[in-house]
Amino acid sequence: MSIEASLNLLDDHGNRLASKQFIRDKRCGRTVGGSGPALPTPRAARYTSSQVALAEYRRKRRFGVTPEPAGGKQRRRARGLLYVVQKHRASHLHYDFRLEWNGVLLSWAVPKGPSPDPAVKRLAMAVEDHPLEYASFEGVIPEGEYGGGTVMVWDRGTWTPDVADVDAAVQKGELKFALQGQKLSGSWVLVRTRSSPRGNKPAWLLIKHRDAAVSTEDIATTEPRSAVSGRLLAEIAWHEGGDVAKAASGDPPGEIRKLIAKPSLVRQRRRGKRAVWHSSKPAR
Ligand code: MN
Repeated sequence: MSIEASLNLLDDHGNRLASKQFIRDKRCGRTVGGSGPALPTPRAARYTSSQVALAEYRRKRRFGVTPEPAGGKQRRRARGLLYVVQKHRASHLHYDFRLEWNGVLLSWAVPKGPSPDPAVKRLAMAVEDHPLEYASFEGVIPEGEYGGGTVMVWDRGTWTPDVADVDAAVQKGELKFALQGQKLSGSWVLVRTRSSPRGNKPAWLLIKHRDAAVSTEDIATTEPRSAVSGRLLAEIAWHEGGDVAKAASGDPPGEIRKLIAKPSLVRQRRRGKRAVWHSSKPAR
């Protein structure tokens, strides 16, 4: 089995999609599915509202248990479209790449994380749209819940699509854009590959275009800390009551060795700081 075929059997947290039936949304090739029915009406199928787009996101989560946002607050500043990458140590480590569009965050799970090297194509699995408020979420999803594990805001900023009709580009399977993030910048493309024979999860590739922002640096290793709090995954888990050892397995071993050798380097939790970082406050 190819790596792509194998990954098509996983959801965005690395869990096997054993009995779940996923249905392709014909309009844009993203998946809808899980236990619920297919989108019922033509209006709904066109994703005309973020409430419809978030149905799958909400179906998978218990908001009384997980600290993740349910969505719907729609507090948005008008300074460009939001971009965020969340490093997520769930069943498997991956990077959730999210782009604001039409009131939600279009989302892809990138197992190895983005690479600023144009020669490196990174697999990106399309996953369900997330609410805009999710871009500020850094904390711990309880074990046993969907995506249980530690989440870090690894990079954030704004993005600019190359074309006006993002929906058409996503449907066509080729979305070109520029990133203005704290770690990633310049011109990028998301390209959809052939779908698996069963038509399960659409696999895309995230590729850096050649420009002034290219680099052969392994940025996931050289810049492993949160863009909003400066914390490693292990420190986030420690502050938020998560599984520290599991979280630490997603941090570079050298960084963890430094903390073990000199525990005074461990970031102290800020008093009263909540798991959700509010985008109204500039992230530094
Ligand atoms: Mn994830």
